[in-house]
Amino acid sequence: MASKTVHMKCYPWLINPYKIIIKQHQIKKTHHAFLIKTIKGLGVYKLVWKVSKWLLCNQKDGIKYCKKCHSCELMSSGNHPDWHHYIKNKNEMITVDHIREINEKTFKYPKQGKNKIIFLSNIKKLTESAKNALLKTLEEPPENTWFFLIDYSNITVNSTLHSRCLIYQLFPPREKKSLHWLKNQNLLNKKLNLISLRINQGSPISAKKFINNGLWEERKNLFLCFFKSIKNQNLLKILPILSINNTLIKIDWICLLLFDAIQLYFNQKKKLTNFDELELIQFFSHNYNYSTLNKSIYTWNKCRYRLLNIPGINNELLLLEQLLKWEKILSFIV
Ligand SMILES: [Zn+2]
Repeated sequence: MASKTVHMKCYPWLINPYKIIIKQHQIKKTHHAFLIKTIKGLGVYKLVWKVSKWLLCNQKDGIKYCKKCHSCELMSSGNHPDWHHYIKNKNEMITVDHIREINEKTFKYPKQGKNKIIFLSNIKKLTESAKNALLKTLEEPPENTWFFLIDYSNITVNSTLHSRCLIYQLFPPREKKSLHWLKNQNLLNKKLNLISLRINQGSPISAKKFINNGLWEERKNLFLCFFKSIKNQNLLKILPILSINNTLIKIDWICLLLFDAIQLYFNQKKKLTNFDELELIQFFSHNYNYSTLNKSIYTWNKCRYRLLNIPGINNELLLLEQLLKWEKILSFIV
């Protein structure tokens, strides 16, 4: 069976999903609109790209694409005329004009072979009118066109769009497998790897970035400063470190720490994310009840939402307000 292995050197956790998706195509039990629900940092782009390469290949061999035909070559060089990837930039939105463009493309014959691929790599980037236009396209699907859509939202909303697609869930690999992968990436501190994985929703790619881009040190510094400020009953001391950079990520870390305190409150010690910060977690779980911890997380999430969604807001002022509010919740100010 060795000859059947698909080469996906970088991300071993994508091998099985690849096989499953291709097999569905082989037995013709798939759907023209394929929606993948997943988290960031699993390399889903690569999965879609490989499946597309197989769909477009002119000389497929079982579940493998040939890598040699004209179509495979065009895909490798990023010039395939029947592969249409939308939303390449973070700030790009998909408008109704884009959908019109897609419709135009899909009603023309493929330029190579017989298949065409439309890849919308984040459905959150669709404007409301684009979504409606896309729904119409999916209702009367053009021939030989395969749509791949990615949904990163972690809430299970079953929108009309979802109901027009076949939904596939791409989960992060098991912790053991991810740890093995990180070790192969020459990251040898197992404890650090495990914490990084848990902080990053189990995504090995994000965990690797977290370690290599200095976020691990930033987190250490934040919690060190945080602990001091708690001892002094003065949370405002963390304001500079919180507002200087990566503010949203730091808010996530604080929330994860508070979740840990709740876990500890319910005696779930094995499941802790930040198990290197036990002293800090214990402070919260011993001194505060579930409702106070929950309220703390709620206010932090609200602050995060405002930072993200209100254009031109004064970050520092908003954070100051939140820290003062939090001091009250934790009864630092009498
Ligand atoms: Zn080929």
